[in-house]
Amino acid sequence: MEVDYIIAGSGIAGCTLAAELHLRGCKLAMFSIQDKNSSSRIAAGLINPIVPKRVIPAWNAEFIFPAIENYYRQLELLTKDTFYDSMPMIQIHGSENEFHQWKIQSEKKDMQPFLRSFPPGRIHGIEASFGYCEVNFCGRLDVLKFCESMENLMMQRHHFHHSLVDYNQIIFESNFVKYGNLKAKGMVFCEGTSIENNPFFSNIPVNKSWGDILEISVSQHPDPGIIFKQKHWCISKTNGNFLCGSNFLLEEGNKEDVELKSEEILNSVTKWFPVKSLISSVRGARPVMPDRRPVMGRHPHFPALMVYNGLGTRGCSLSTWLSPLLADHITLNSELPEEVRVERFPFHSK
Ligand SMILES: Cc1cc2nc3c(=O)[nH]c(=O)nc-3n(C[C@H](O)[C@H](O)[C@H](O)COP(=O)(O)OP(=O)(O)OC[C@H]3O[C@@H](n4cnc5c(N)ncnc54)[C@H](O)[C@@H]3O)c2cc1C
Repeated sequence: MEVDYIIAGSGIAGCTLAAELHLRGCKLAMFSIQDKNSSSRIAAGLINPIVPKRVIPAWNAEFIFPAIENYYRQLELLTKDTFYDSMPMIQIHGSENEFHQWKIQSEKKDMQPFLRSFPPGRIHGIEASFGYCEVNFCGRLDVLKFCESMENLMMQRHHFHHSLVDYNQIIFESNFVKYGNLKAKGMVFCEGTSIENNPFFSNIPVNKSWGDILEISVSQHPDPGIIFKQKHWCISKTNGNFLCGSNFLLEEGNKEDVELKSEEILNSVTKWFPVKSLISSVRGARPVMPDRRPVMGRHPHFPALMVYNGLGTRGCSLSTWLSPLLADHITLNSELPEEVRVERFPFHSK
């Protein structure tokens, strides 16, 4: 059976790319398993245009973030489902120093579209003794729901296989790939941290940035329509519970470490409102490149094999810009931005 492209992986990368290729009229086959530990199934889906440590806009924030809501609305129409909520975020400062740092930054020209600084006071029922900032262009993608909606679209209109791609079974030339009974113009690997097992892209140095996400129930929440953030954040889910997180850890750690870090997150949240119960606590890994830039494009020696990875801490926002670019690159051979090209990692010769 002939299709245009085969996509390995149904996380944010694979699903947004599938949507883009679908919209360009391509016939697709997708392979993936419901891996509950994959980054996209754990992610909270927070959309935040600010890098909190340095209080600067995220990479290319000026054009990525204002376009995100429309991007997901278009995919909601495509899948006839809902998974995106635009929500204001309140960054509550923890000290006077923090207040001054955010205030100074909020007055800079490139930050003005994103931040508005306020002095100490109560905001949406929460005491902000050192002031706060309102952050624009924030929201939440229900990542699990989005990926499931896209998998359904694949099942209904294309082909979806509940299995991993077995690298040993791939037969390829420069302009086609055969896999089982499928023949395609190319295969795109959107495998998240599992790319470390992929023999074709073994040159890509993926790192894992571990993080915890807690689901909690809350007895009295001052305003579920607002994302509250200090070092940690708390955001509502459509089922009435709340997600809170996260952290950035170099190691997977053990059960005790998960409990310890979960406690830290819970302590932050209980400063704002009483937590009724901890429903779950999960730790997962974000796929991160050493230079903190995603990686995409064709294998220089085997161009029918392609990669899309390294979405890091901002998969839900970066994919809205990068997936259309990759789909154009695949179908029209357009150029990719230099910072994300796969060639930046040296390939061993054929
Ligand atoms: C704790 C935590 C919190 C996060 N919070 C946020 C957040 O709030 N906002 C945000 O924007 N981002 C967040 N992220 C980051 C975001 O989740 C990632 O950037 C994104 O999920 C990466 O998506 P991906 O599709 O590249 O990889 P993944 O989500 O890992 O998906 C890869 C998929 O490929 C499949 N696969 C692997 N190998 C194969 C194979 N050989 N064949 C077929 N399929 C294969 C896997 O089963 C999986 O389904 C968070 C991540 C973590 C861990």
